[in-house]
Amino acid sequence: MSNNDYSLFWTETIRQLIEESKLSEQEHDMWFRNMECIDGDASSVTLSVPSNFYRDQVTQRYLDLLESKLHDLTGSKLHIQFDIRKNTNDHSVDHKSAAAAASTIRTIKEVRPASQPIVDKHPHKQLRKDYDFDGFVIGNNNSFAASAAQAIGSNPGGAYNPFLIYGGVGLGKTHLMQAIGNSIHFSMQEKKVVYITAETFINEFIHSIKTETQSLFKNKYRKVDVLLIDDIHDLQSKKETQEELFHTFNALYDAKKQLVFTCDRPPSELRNFADRLKNRFERGLNVDLQPPNFETRYAILRKKLETITTSIPDEVLELIARNVTTNVRDLEASLTKMVAYADLVGKDITVEVAQHQLKGAFAGTLAANITIDRVQRVVSDYFNVTPADLKGKKRTKLVTFPRQVAMYIIREITDYSTTEIGLEFGGRDHTTVMHACQRIEDRMKGDPTLEPTVGELIRATKDTG
Ligand code: ADP
Ligand code: MG
Repeated sequence: MSNNDYSLFWTETIRQLIEESKLSEQEHDMWFRNMECIDGDASSVTLSVPSNFYRDQVTQRYLDLLESKLHDLTGSKLHIQFDIRKNTNDHSVDHKSAAAAASTIRTIKEVRPASQPIVDKHPHKQLRKDYDFDGFVIGNNNSFAASAAQAIGSNPGGAYNPFLIYGGVGLGKTHLMQAIGNSIHFSMQEKKVVYITAETFINEFIHSIKTETQSLFKNKYRKVDVLLIDDIHDLQSKKETQEELFHTFNALYDAKKQLVFTCDRPPSELRNFADRLKNRFERGLNVDLQPPNFETRYAILRKKLETITTSIPDEVLELIARNVTTNVRDLEASLTKMVAYADLVGKDITVEVAQHQLKGAFAGTLAANITIDRVQRVVSDYFNVTPADLKGKKRTKLVTFPRQVAMYIIREITDYSTTEIGLEFGGRDHTTVMHACQRIEDRMKGDPTLEPTVGELIRATKDTG
């Protein structure tokens, strides 16, 4: 068989795994789009990947699956090898893999259920065009919300009405809500979609009273097919506007029009809010968005990079994904900063540059997210002792060393003072903590294996969230 045949087998392997739902489209985008089958013989196939990180992740996650599918297809047991591309910025390589990827991607589109026809329409005036479903990465934190949103996009006014998305800042509420709007706007010719923030809704309402144009206001919001109101927590304490919204809600709901809301908390936690309106919100489907895990953060960064020509190495994306854990907005801000740096300073982005430039962003998220308890859990797991051992009085070497490592890590990656740390370790004195950190530093100098271990534990801590 020629190399070409292997490449076909490879494409078919991926196609079938997608068809059998063993690989999601997101997984495909994340791990396989950038991969190419470059060689093959009777015993192995070679895949070209952009980095060691890629190789390790794909090996861990998919090797068995891939090898067994290849076996099914070729009838022989092929071993998968990886070839790391020399330079991820090498565009000639990228073009080739993009072409290879294009063929698999088309197959994904074919196995998708037939979607709504695309209607030739101008972009919606109130909606951001890039806030669509294609640009929204689905992860563990948002898959329920995203599936419901997609269902509403193809059948507004159906089973999920009203639909309310809640969650903290920067987690994708507005994006998902506007994706529903865009989807309906572009696929259903006759549907009128209106998007408004609660704040603007309040202002327009007040203005309509002052100018005695209330009936215009009412008409505007009661003659729509899809009403999207963003950030309804802003309606707290706005009694009159709540009243108005209550009537608008009822009129639209009774006419089976779709209502979508976003909120920074579950409706039950809204204060100074009319109960009857709260009850209406809770009537349909309420879903929450959580902060994304590492893999989703990484996938989001890759997705955002698709629209940018500046090349950022994988290692830097990984660094950002590991360290910026708060929300997607912060994640994007770090990426934007790196892209701006590359464009303005005209230098390549290396891990060192990124570490230096993003120090502030990283520090903020560290302090915000990592607790002493979390470090204790990760360290005790690793050394096979219990968190109670770390906090306890035992002074056997089996526990003193892990205890010192845990203290050292907390000192390194959080803003806790030595006094605070001491308190969480069974009420030890701050000098004990300082002493422990010093011990670990000294040992690292003498023992070359310790530093990588500590590094690994730090990564593991940041990853468990
Ligand atoms: P919220 O309304 O919850 O504060 P936004 O919808 O404004 O958050 O999201 C903040 C930014 O993060 C936006 O630029 C959005 O495109 C991006 N974002 C959030 N979640 C995702 C996701 N799952 N995939 C891609 N981009 C996302
Ligand atoms: Mg928002």
